[in-house]
Amino acid sequence: MSIVVTGSAGRVGSRVARRLLDEGEAVVGFDLRPAGIDHPRYREVVGAFSDPAAARQAAEGAKAVLHLGAFMSWRREDADKLWEANVTGTRMVAEAAAAAGCRRFVFASSGEVYPENVPAYQPIDEDHPLAPRTPYGLTKLLGEEIVRFLGRTGALETVILRFSHTQDAAELLDPDSFFSGPRFFLHPKIRQQQAFGNAAAVAALVAVDDGREALVLSRNENGRPFAMHITDTRDMVEGILLAVRHPAAAGEVFNLGASEPVDFARALPLMAERTGLPLREVNLPGPGVHYRTANRKIRERLGFTPTWTIERMIDEAVAARSARQRS
Ligand code: NAD
Repeated sequence: MSIVVTGSAGRVGSRVARRLLDEGEAVVGFDLRPAGIDHPRYREVVGAFSDPAAARQAAEGAKAVLHLGAFMSWRREDADKLWEANVTGTRMVAEAAAAAGCRRFVFASSGEVYPENVPAYQPIDEDHPLAPRTPYGLTKLLGEEIVRFLGRTGALETVILRFSHTQDAAELLDPDSFFSGPRFFLHPKIRQQQAFGNAAAVAALVAVDDGREALVLSRNENGRPFAMHITDTRDMVEGILLAVRHPAAAGEVFNLGASEPVDFARALPLMAERTGLPLREVNLPGPGVHYRTANRKIRERLGFTPTWTIERMIDEAVAARSARQRS
């Protein structure tokens, strides 16, 4: 019997697949792209989650499915693709898992179902109202509903994990990284805000740009620095393994992420000091990003113990940046 890992070519899925193989499991990867894993206990289905034949092929002989793959985009023109991958795709993957007689089904949801950026109260726990504000967040909530439905009707033993923002440490100081580039580097952030059509944010950012590559410390319109959880992929892997194996996880929903949010007012000066890059500070229009999410339930019920603080991640990010500059 195998464990299916969807999103096996992705940030989280590829690490989970490798870890399960190291622990002696048979693993089936399922992704649009090959994962590049060469192992006698690894089988791979390259295809779309929304393709029922591919989903059936992946689920064949599965004792558990970890549905970690998804399409992530915040661009208006990607709305159809989001629905196809995350709603139709989740339905096909979950129904194929149920038809194959697989028991446990772990679903990677997101803090965007609350959404964390606009919390009704903090710390955000699993009982917080679900009111996504983005099409991506909506597809994650609909994915949860599909999974909850199959759990309620007894077809699957489900575990829903609401993921924190997740990064490989090496991405943090990479200006080309999809998330960390525009989050921490001035020029990628200007390009991102231009693409979103946020003229006021672009003006505020351009005003502090002297043309040199720089880090940027984002504050809201009242000067409050951003703060959010950024969890190392390796901690996420530990939480996912608990979700698939721990008896007390069955039927539950857990926030999964680092215990403490990253305070940008502390992290960005540290990044600047460690890289020698100049640091620009900018007040962006609007309420900004400032949230704290509780991981207490998964810590207390499953024994989740995250170990990657932002300081440890920055250490690795600095080393990875130096290695990139040397090569
Ligand atoms: P990732 O983008 O690195 O990996 C996702 C994988 O899914 C990719 O390899 C991609 O090829 C595959 N995929 C996308 N659409 C597909 C489709 N239609 N059919 C088959 N494969 C498809 O993402 P990640 O960071 O590893 O995220 C893992 C999960 O966690 C995702 O479900 C994501 O929505 C969720 N999540 C991630 C974050 C984060 O900050 N990284 C935050 C909250 C939730």
